Amino acid sequence: MNGRLPMVIIAFFACLHISAADFYLVKDGKPAAVLIRPQKYSVQTYDAIKDFSFRVGKCTGCELPIYDAAPGAKILFREEDRSPGDMDRYTIDFPNSRTMRITGSKYSIRYALNHLLEKYFGVRFLLAFSKNLAERPAGYSSDLEAEYPACKDVSVPIRTITDTASFNFMRGYRAHDPQDWNARLSFCRSHGLAEDVFPWNKYAENNSWPQEILPVLNGKKYVMPKYRSGMGPRQYRQFWQPCYSNPETKRIAVANILEKLKKEPIDTVGYFDDHWKIYAYREKRYFINLDPNDNGGYCQCAKCLKAVGGKKNRLGMQNYSELYFRWVNEVANEVTKKYPDVYFRTFAYTQTYDAPSFPLHPNVIVMLCRELYSGLKPDIRQEWEQTLQLWSRKAQILFVWDYLYGSEYFLLPRFHSGIQAEMTSLCYKYNVRGFGDEQYDPSYFDGPKNYLIAKQMWHVNADMDTLLKDWCESAVGKEAAPYLYQYWKFWENYWRSPELLETSWANSLYSVYTQLGEQGTYTYALRKGDMTRLRSLLEDTAKYTRNASESQKKRAKFFLSVFEPSEMAAKALYAELLNPDGSLSSASDAVELLKTVPQALEAVENMKMMRKKGRIARRLVELAERGVVSNVTAVNPFRNVPEVKEAIAELLKKGGLPSTLSAILQLMNGKSYRNLVSNGSFEDPDQHPVPLWTWENYSAEHVSHGKYAYKSCNGNYYFHVKGIQPGRTYLAMMDVYIENPSAEGLFNFELAPRCGNRNVDWMRLCDLKLKKGWQTFQFSYKTPVRTFVGKPVDNILLRANCRNFETGEYVWMDNVRLYQLD
Ligand SMILES: [Zn+2]
Repeated sequence: MNGRLPMVIIAFFACLHISAADFYLVKDGKPAAVLIRPQKYSVQTYDAIKDFSFRVGKCTGCELPIYDAAPGAKILFREEDRSPGDMDRYTIDFPNSRTMRITGSKYSIRYALNHLLEKYFGVRFLLAFSKNLAERPAGYSSDLEAEYPACKDVSVPIRTITDTASFNFMRGYRAHDPQDWNARLSFCRSHGLAEDVFPWNKYAENNSWPQEILPVLNGKKYVMPKYRSGMGPRQYRQFWQPCYSNPETKRIAVANILEKLKKEPIDTVGYFDDHWKIYAYREKRYFINLDPNDNGGYCQCAKCLKAVGGKKNRLGMQNYSELYFRWVNEVANEVTKKYPDVYFRTFAYTQTYDAPSFPLHPNVIVMLCRELYSGLKPDIRQEWEQTLQLWSRKAQILFVWDYLYGSEYFLLPRFHSGIQAEMTSLCYKYNVRGFGDEQYDPSYFDGPKNYLIAKQMWHVNADMDTLLKDWCESAVGKEAAPYLYQYWKFWENYWRSPELLETSWANSLYSVYTQLGEQGTYTYALRKGDMTRLRSLLEDTAKYTRNASESQKKRAKFFLSVFEPSEMAAKALYAELLNPDGSLSSASDAVELLKTVPQALEAVENMKMMRKKGRIARRLVELAERGVVSNVTAVNPFRNVPEVKEAIAELLKKGGLPSTLSAILQLMNGKSYRNLVSNGSFEDPDQHPVPLWTWENYSAEHVSHGKYAYKSCNGNYYFHVKGIQPGRTYLAMMDVYIENPSAEGLFNFELAPRCGNRNVDWMRLCDLKLKKGWQTFQFSYKTPVRTFVGKPVDNILLRANCRNFETGEYVWMDNVRLYQLD
């Protein structure tokens, strides 16, 4: 009996599958059909056909031949010209039982072939890597990219298949081989006014900018930057906007656009910067960029100001939407008289963030720029929905520009497909039909993130969990898949955990994107043992690949090596020990932290080695280097507990510490340094740090040092500290007290090293929720030796800021200190 009956059953079912109504692509490991090159085809279509044949070969050992004509079973291709909103549609049908026919655009023929590979061969395009060899990670091999299951017989049922994308205007997720994931980058350039509408290359060199279009700023007509050789659009796409009140601005815009469409009917599409130009391709010009320039510069002439009428938008900025979108509509009306299938891209961005009061021309596309993941917070999601709703009433097509940074900024894998999927569905509900994203690094660090996003871009209702399971199975095989699945599920849950929302980082969800000025505090939601558990899940993944394919084995090992930088970073930042708000819970945790300092320092050294090998970004090493020292200050509240004292002394005795860390420990150990902040303890009302400080607020109610503290409400409180030297390490500290935690109130403590009045950097503890009682905030900062202004740092500005506190909610500040540690 051993094994015989099952064999019979398998054969029986296999027979059932291969019925007369099937079209064979491969039979007994040999080609059962040939590919017929169409008479007229684009580069994209021909590449797709060649790739398909090659990939069939990877699965079956035989490539499908490509001929111009052939008798017998064949696959025909028909490439059609399509409008931008219809480029993704494809049809696979069968004119007769020996002929398969694939009809689509120059992009969608590939999507049809991808469908055949995925559905009938079981191929999965799992991971994407940079095309640039130098950027590929250690342990890279091409096997990691896709899984090609071995198969001998592959057939497709003879019936018509037709499909298209949910987001049918653009799916710009930056996969490194975008086409495998059916990504389509339907335009390039941002802030393109000075290219498509008022072309810099027409006006800059001979300084012939039409004066009518130039704005009035601060009472003066704007003067365009003088052209020097080497200047390009970059220099002309910021700091100014055309004067939309001047009728000439419309006339010149229309004339220039018509000229462009006539003279340059072919456009370069895709990502345009140096890093990505490899993905640029040429196609008919369908898009004109009317999106505003960057960094403000909206016209303040009397007419424009009158039209704006002092109105502010939802971001609290001057509302130029009425003025700008009226101009957009007028331009679109004129241009579409001659070119009805041209689309106009615009931004809902800063001064044009709000929807105007009138409907937009149907060919106007509005792009909303904000990180979708911010919808994690219910209040932000509500705001998203309001914004989408308001816009969808005025514009027929919306795009979203998302920010999906991974290993270029983050120490932990950012896998959050659940939130992403919920937000994507919400967008779809409100006319969003295109996505672009910002992220530069290869996506392997975030595992299945970009793969799943691409799948949802294609079918908005795709089930993320089913796809994740499928991805894991294909990546490492059936036996190991449950471990890998649990690993990614951990991150999924992590990025939506309540603890994460308590970190300082979570407040950055209110910004356009989340990592600005951030010190890695999102790692503080890790709990003791998390990284060990994650490592063992990946080790189990590798262990259970005995029956898996060679590429699956390689992948399992690769995932483990990709995890290592995160593991080290968590150690370096003491992430598992710190509470989400960066504090420590107990003296015993303080002792534990001090005991792990040597391991944390070793982790930083390991990260530096990885950096040398190009495995991680420089700024991640910097975060770890800073955190390994700065985060030790969390021990401070427990410094007088005997066990803690002992652990500090022991660490100092052992030596070999970075000088800053040793200075911080000595400070906790009782060594005194000169406080560079004058009147930081608020004892002398004659020495108010700056005029806004008033004697009335000197308070003896709650004091951490001396007789007085400063009782403050909402506002900015500055300390200017002179005599700062370059290349030295400073420690800034302050004590803050609140009677009861505030529901909305946020506290910030910031340090800016300066050259004269100019900030050259910025270090901040941002948007902290205060806990009842006294708390100490601190960080260390090493002043740079060289600065971008050419002069050395000579002073430091400390700023405390309270906002969103209610009337009657006071914050006491005391003992503001700045020490030079070396
Ligand atoms: Zn104006």
